[in-house]
Amino acid sequence: METAGKVIKCKAAVAWEAGKPLSIEEVEVAPPQAMEVRVKILYTSLCHTDVYFWEAKGQTPVFPRIFGHEAGGIIESVGEGVTDVAPGDHVLPVFTGECKECPHCKSAESNMCDLLRINTDRGVMIGDGKSRFSINGKPIYHFVGTSTFSEYTVMHVGCVAKINPEAPLDKVCILSCGISTGLGATINVAKPPKGSTVAIFGLGAVGLAAAEGARIAGASRIIGVDLNPSRFEEARKFGCTEFVNPKDHNKPVQQVLAEMTNGGVDRSVECTGNINAMIQAFECVHDGWGVAVLVGVPHKDAEFKTHPMNFLNERTLKGTFFGNYKPRTDLPNVVELYMKKELEVEKFITHSVPFAEINKAFDLMAKGEGIRCIIRMEN
Ligand code: NAD
Ligand code: ZN
Repeated sequence: METAGKVIKCKAAVAWEAGKPLSIEEVEVAPPQAMEVRVKILYTSLCHTDVYFWEAKGQTPVFPRIFGHEAGGIIESVGEGVTDVAPGDHVLPVFTGECKECPHCKSAESNMCDLLRINTDRGVMIGDGKSRFSINGKPIYHFVGTSTFSEYTVMHVGCVAKINPEAPLDKVCILSCGISTGLGATINVAKPPKGSTVAIFGLGAVGLAAAEGARIAGASRIIGVDLNPSRFEEARKFGCTEFVNPKDHNKPVQQVLAEMTNGGVDRSVECTGNINAMIQAFECVHDGWGVAVLVGVPHKDAEFKTHPMNFLNERTLKGTFFGNYKPRTDLPNVVELYMKKELEVEKFITHSVPFAEINKAFDLMAKGEGIRCIIRMEN
């Protein structure tokens, strides 16, 4: 490519200050250095994590910054030492990574890469501690190694998953974060046997994806639990067969679920981030075989309390990060699930805006409208 090795000038949505609307600016994007790739982003979407760090309430503020981590794009050029991907390859950027060399990457069980695991405070590249974005020579910081709210971005090669070039990037871009997290929590971690009963706590994007995972696994009953009943209608499309609103009952939701299911659900997946829901999700599984999986990110002071007898009675509690998917190894297969029409991605996409109107995606999320809003970089 004629741009390889040169600085690219392009548009990016820059967050100058916490909580202030993003502003579209011309930025300079430096060429990728060793083990880095420069990616032309075609589609990106907004996830809650972008909003948390943009609001920076209780988070380390790092500004000016380019947010964005759910996206799809094409490799423009690669730095020294990159052999796994080449210009023209279609990729999904990922907020965590897979170096393929550390003990976690070498373990068949873990996806928590030592080198590239999510770091929300770092605003620079791992290689040289510098940013690849600048405006008039002033650095603009990166976000979780991806910064996809830019027409071009630079990433560590371990943070891009090379996917089937036939996969429509305007759809599969949403598989690079929340959807895979929920899907993998059910399919890879909870592993519901065919015909089982699964409870999903929290019916946001992650919980709906967990429900989709239960549907794909062949669960016969999928019980959605949420405090917000407006979620229930939508959740039917994701396989939820029944709903429980804890506010409608004057007994603990664990008891409500036990009564509905002859003693407890076979599997539960917690996607709320609320500590009470986490405890309920564990205590509602059937003794003898029940497995609960925690996905939500709790408040920093939260403590999980339950009676140890709940474990002795052969209930299992697990937690998961990014649905236990190894980004480079496993994400291409998640895309294939969509290509084979087993995973339905379209129903997660409720809105779409051109890049110039990216702040509308933030407004929609603030109002709790829809599930995913695709931001189109080109039109
Ligand atoms: P969301 O805010 O869209 O959805 C959460 C839902 O939970 C809401 O519908 C809310 O009404 C419901 N809820 C809240 N408290 C509840 C309670 N006590 N009982 C029942 N329902 C309750 O969020 P999301 O984007 O779907 O994300 C869900 C969680 O997953 C968040 O905590 C997020 O940080 C986390 N997450 C974890 C990972 C990971 O790798 N572990 C990755 C991405 C996101
Ligand atoms: Zn690693």
